[in-house]
Amino acid sequence: MFIDPHAHMISRTTDDYEAMAKAGVVAVIEPAFWIGQARTNVGSYRDYLSHILGFERFRAGQFGVRHYCCIGLNSKEANNEELAEAVMDILPGFATKEGVVAIGEIGYDEQTALEDKYFRLQLDLARDLDLPVMIHTPHRDKKRGASRSMDVILEHKLDPSRVVIDHVNEETIQEVKDRGFWAAFSIYPHSKMTAERMAALVKTYGAERLIADSACDWGVSDPLSVPKTAKLMADSGISAEDVRLVTYANALAVYGKSGQMAEADWLSPEPIDQRTLYQGNTVLRGGQTPRMPQSGSGNE
Ligand SMILES: [Zn+2]
Repeated sequence: MFIDPHAHMISRTTDDYEAMAKAGVVAVIEPAFWIGQARTNVGSYRDYLSHILGFERFRAGQFGVRHYCCIGLNSKEANNEELAEAVMDILPGFATKEGVVAIGEIGYDEQTALEDKYFRLQLDLARDLDLPVMIHTPHRDKKRGASRSMDVILEHKLDPSRVVIDHVNEETIQEVKDRGFWAAFSIYPHSKMTAERMAALVKTYGAERLIADSACDWGVSDPLSVPKTAKLMADSGISAEDVRLVTYANALAVYGKSGQMAEADWLSPEPIDQRTLYQGNTVLRGGQTPRMPQSGSGNE
């Protein structure tokens, strides 16, 4: 069993869900993020958050994958102050909905003053709601951005054992571990981190508080990164228990602190019935035969 704790499934196809379920991915976490172009008003943000919490959760379930969310204002759009103010007003209402396991992904992009302002406000929100936090570390000036994120989190009195620093690499892992945070690694086909480098890091640092994710989205990315990384780690001599920690149990341990995610969700799920509707809509197209509990193709 695997958990992919960072996957923008709203950008993926049903083939991806089927392949993930087949490869053993039982649950995904969808962090609220930038969608490739800037939203121009709070209405589109509201619809996006409703979509990932509503139809996307339903769609995942129809293919046998449990779906959870992180809710937040991303750093890129924090730079549009009018939008950011309006989004901050609606975030508490979304962050307290069923299936929300963290505030995220939040943090710095270009490390501007507005990014800093809304990052801090959202850390306060996470503390008020007693939710874990998922931190996006910047691609440019990563080391300084990661250090600064951790400084600000501690300044805002959050417990590092409830905070995941994501997109970590060789440059940032030591500080993340030393300061007591969880370190997540986005395993990408071409950038960020590869499965080979991840295996080397587990050998050097151990599996404690390390997490692999795919960060799959609308760009070149691989929704099977987590099971592929698990296989590569096992083949390279890493113990089955350490593989389990990095690709399953650590993500469950930290995001389970939300009280919204538990093993029972996928160990004893409702049987798949593709005749089910979401607000009157189905995942099926005309002429398709639905998967049903008695058809034997369910999530046994
Ligand atoms: Zn992301």
